[in-house]
Amino acid sequence: MSKKASTHEFQAETKQVLDIVVNSLYKDKEIFVRELISNASDALEKLRRLQLTEKNVFDEELDLEINVSTDDASNQLTIQDFGIGMTKDELVENLGTIAHSGSKEFMEALKSEGDANEALIGKFGVGFYSVFMVADEVQAFTRTWNPNGDGQCWKSNGDGSYSIEAAEEQGRGTKMVIKLKEDFSEFAKEDRIKEIIRKYSAFVQFPVSVNGEKVNTVDAIWMRSKNEIKEEEYEEFYKFQSNDYEGPSMKMHFSADAPLEINALLFVPKRNMEKMGMFRNENKVALHCRKVLIDAEPKGLFPEWLRFLRGVVDSSDLPLNVSRETMQDSELLRKLNQVLTKRFLRFLREQSKKEEKTYLEFWSEFGLMIKEGAATDFTYREDLAKLLRFESTALEPGKLTGLDSYLDRMASDQKEILFLFGKSRESIEAGPYLEAPAARGLEVLLLTEPVDEYVMQAIREFSDKKIVSADSEDFELEEIEQKLKGRSLGKKQTKELCAWLKDSLGEKVSDVETGDRLIESPVCIVGGDGMGGPSGRRVMQMMQGMEGAMPAPSVKLQINPRHAIIKGLNGLKEKDGETASLIAEQLLDNAMASANLLDDPREMIARSYKALEKLAASGD
Ligand code: ADP
Ligand code: MG
Repeated sequence: MSKKASTHEFQAETKQVLDIVVNSLYKDKEIFVRELISNASDALEKLRRLQLTEKNVFDEELDLEINVSTDDASNQLTIQDFGIGMTKDELVENLGTIAHSGSKEFMEALKSEGDANEALIGKFGVGFYSVFMVADEVQAFTRTWNPNGDGQCWKSNGDGSYSIEAAEEQGRGTKMVIKLKEDFSEFAKEDRIKEIIRKYSAFVQFPVSVNGEKVNTVDAIWMRSKNEIKEEEYEEFYKFQSNDYEGPSMKMHFSADAPLEINALLFVPKRNMEKMGMFRNENKVALHCRKVLIDAEPKGLFPEWLRFLRGVVDSSDLPLNVSRETMQDSELLRKLNQVLTKRFLRFLREQSKKEEKTYLEFWSEFGLMIKEGAATDFTYREDLAKLLRFESTALEPGKLTGLDSYLDRMASDQKEILFLFGKSRESIEAGPYLEAPAARGLEVLLLTEPVDEYVMQAIREFSDKKIVSADSEDFELEEIEQKLKGRSLGKKQTKELCAWLKDSLGEKVSDVETGDRLIESPVCIVGGDGMGGPSGRRVMQMMQGMEGAMPAPSVKLQINPRHAIIKGLNGLKEKDGETASLIAEQLLDNAMASANLLDDPREMIARSYKALEKLAASGD
């Protein structure tokens, strides 16, 4: 050896991961085999792609394959590939830091889970570092594909540092030599390793052999015909491809010849990691052309709001030797995106009918992303609208309905689809706005997530029916024979009271009127400012980002002339103007609170004490 070895410290975060991995009691140690085989497979895939454009590749005659050998006597395992290999700089970058997806996701999950959860190692794989669960020492012999490079040997025993020295005899690719800890001699046994590779690496697209014997069948499952594939095969493929520890919740396998030739196998995971606040999903549907991987994470293959999808798309119409960058804004990719998105939305719709339970599980995990699409993507608005689910006054709490079923239930002369937004079903039911539709026998969708109102504003209509909030002026009330609760104030008195209220409340209201909206409640907020009502106002607030950024809105107050408080107020305004004004202010605040428009309740609380004081004083 001419050159001396250089010693390097692992990056701090890497040390942390290593420390957790080495000391973990995680029981499925065998996953390290999966991680190393998948790295070898990645390296081969990269080389295969490179060879499409690069003619000058070192050791060109070497086959794209993975060779595993076990040495029971010296308790050693070797995994070798003829992939792209690494330069010295790449060794430092790739094995000395955790800038890479596998271990990076692990780190992020670790941060959000708080402490070192054993199960996380299984979920995220930890990538290359998982080998230190079982190894006393690991040597990575490697040589880059580039003819100008040279061989290197990286070595570490998983504590704080590693060394790198020249390894002149090393050919193209990487050879991991693993000296196993005494307790883990099982991984130096041929049968055990074969079993593990069959389990985890059945879908590796390159031949894998153990001690010279081939153990996998290279097989592009997505190109095979549906009826010869078993459910378990799909599940295993999904787990392998998405690095998930559990099976998918749904899968769609389809092929088409026109307008493009496509073979696609798409999966929806059971869980939405994004919802758990871990990280943002990235598109991980791999793009292939006749089984050759073009891009594992192509941007633009699906719309953003389908970023939870996993799987493979294979199209023979793709040009093989195109760079990823030109690929990303190609017309072809846009076409693929269109065809696939349409097809997947149709699949979801079928699923929602045929497999309602599965669909509802999907909805509770990924509904938010469907809403994201409905609110932002004009192209698919109709299809997405059909997938939305909400609670409704027509159903018991917890049950959900779609807009289709709403239409089925509604009477032929009903003009609009109605909804109301509130913090919860209970709070909507307690407010004043259900009274009018309920008295007319109209169904109201109950929306409880902040984005829901925004989504409804974006969709606007469904099957030619307008979608309106039941608290807006656009909701036209039909005259009804109201079950009058007692006597109403006379027309003239009501008019006078409205005028007095407007005068007393001043700037805070744009108008005070009487109407057919109220049955049980004394007052409510309607319309005003051309925003269609409280719902429109809240959406405006949401779009403007910060609450309270808008000047305090001036609203329209509607009163119920049959209500005891209103009748009492009418008499009081003459006898005790001061108390009457206090009550008027309080009524307005209550109405604002019912409409979810009260930003700061402190003023209202102070006033309500004053009112209570007056009441209590009569007993003094
Ligand atoms: P990930 O595979 O998620 O990127 P790993 O921890 O498994 O993370 O691997 C880290 C990096 O080390 C890889 O991204 C790759 O660049 C490099 N690497 C690992 N194994 C090999 C190999 N056999 N051949 C070439 N590069 C490799
Ligand atoms: Mg990896």
